[in-house]
Parts: sequence; structure tokens; C-alpha cells
Amino acid sequence: MGNFDVIVVGAGTAGSYASYLLAKAGLNVALIEMKGKDRVFKTTGDAIGIHHIERMTIKPPSDVFMIKYEGAELFSPDLSIKYVVLGKGFGLDMAKWARWLIGEAERAGAHIFDNHKVQGPIIESGMVSGVRVLKPDGSTEEFRAKVVIDASGVGAVVRSRLPREWWVSEHYCLRTSRMPIGRLSRLIMILRSPNS
Ligand SMILES: Cc1cc2nc3c(=O)[nH]c(=O)nc-3n(C[C@H](O)[C@H](O)[C@H](O)COP(=O)(O)OP(=O)(O)OC[C@H]3O[C@@H](n4cnc5c(N)ncnc54)[C@H](O)[C@@H]3O)c2cc1C
Repeated sequence: MGNFDVIVVGAGTAGSYASYLLAKAGLNVALIEMKGKDRVFKTTGDAIGIHHIERMTIKPPSDVFMIKYEGAELFSPDLSIKYVVLGKGFGLDMAKWARWLIGEAERAGAHIFDNHKVQGPIIESGMVSGVRVLKPDGSTEEFRAKVVIDASGVGAVVRSRLPREWWVSEHYCLRTSRMPIGRLSRLIMILRSPNS
């Protein structure tokens, strides 16, 4: 595959928005996503603070917003302790959000390679010069670029395969990285909408 200025791995919120900004700035961008572009959505929470939306240089269409929040109420497991965290935000329709953001990246000129799975970085002369990609037909291909952005989320498909002596190659400690989720599962969070 031809040379790109930037390869972005992963079309989640981070990768799609980075691709949009870079393509808009005139760079030749390849956005590589292992899922089909109509099937990208995160299955986790959908609440986002209003300040994130305000900082974006493009405005999302109104149909991505499902509900308005005015804060969150955090309860201990036995409900005896409650913390109220005030702050405006939205609940997003993550499927529509993802489709809109990938579409914006594509309209800005980014080349979208969905159903393409990155297997790991290509390292030459001590630098990342591209990524190896598994294509939908089962063959593999090398994509090359001046810069590779790993936006593959917790999978960290590029970052986690860098030489251990590079400072960016630190691996998660599974025990501690899972701890916050474990604790969170014992916390009940209720998001406050204006009518609640
Ligand atoms: C239980 C839970 C609840 C959460 N709730 C909220 C919430 O309410 N509000 C909030 O703001 N955040 C929430 N988060 C955090 C939020 O999900 C992440 O911060 C956010 O999804 C990170 O976005 P991202 O674009 O970096 O990665 P991701 O959304 O993970 O996107 C990564 C993309 O990379 C693709 N990919 C992965 N590997 C490869 C590969 N090898 N080749 C090609 N593509 C690949 C994936 O398919 C995916 O599309 C929650 C997280 C969890 C775990």
C-alpha cells in the first residue's frame, strides 16, 4: 500500500477525530479499523461532559444526543453514602456518533480501511515505519507512513508490540489496571437528567 503521511489505527472516537483533524490539515491519512465502519461503536458507557463537545472543532448532529445530564449521583453499595457530582453532559447514541465521526474523517479526505486488522508495527532503523495489516480477503499487506498513531484503545496493538527498551512500550499491569473497574462495579452511579 502506498505511503501515507499518517496511519491512524482504530476508528473509535480518538482515531476518527484525529483522522478528521489531520486530513482537514491537508495530510494524507489512512484510518485502519478492524470492524466494518457501520459496526464501530463502543459497548460501554455513553455519558460525556459538555466541555468535550464544546472543544471539538466540528459540531455533532443533534440526533447523536439521546439525553441531557446535569450531574451524577454516586452511591456506595449499601446506598448509605451518596456523592453528587454536578456537571452538564449528554448521553450519546454511540453507533450514530461513531458513524458521524468516521464520515467526517472520510469527507475531510482520510482513506478509510475498515475490516482491516492491524497485526503490529513495522520497525526499521529503530523507528516505526508502518503497520502490518490483515485484509478482509485473508492476505496481509504492509502500510507505511511517516507517523503512526495507535488509537486502538485498550488493545494497544502497536504500542504493546514495540521493543521493551523503548519508553512507550510499558505494558499494563493487569492486576492494577483491572482494579478501578473492579471497584467501579461495586459503585452505583445514577446520572441526573433535568427531569429526574
Ligand atoms: C465499562 C466502561 C464504561 C465507560 N463509560 C464511559 C462513559 O460513560 N463516558 C466516557 O466518556 N467514557 C467511558 N468509558 C471510557 C471510554 O470507553 C474510552 O475512554 C473510549 O472508548 C476510548 O476511545 P478510543 O477511541 O481511544 O478507543 P476505543 O473506543 O476503544 O476505539 C478503539 C478502536 O480501535 C479498533 N481496533 C482495536 N484493535 C484494532 C486492530 N488490531 N486493528 C484495527 N483496529 C483496531 C477497535 O475496533 C475500536 O473501534 C468507559 C469505559 C468502560 C470500560
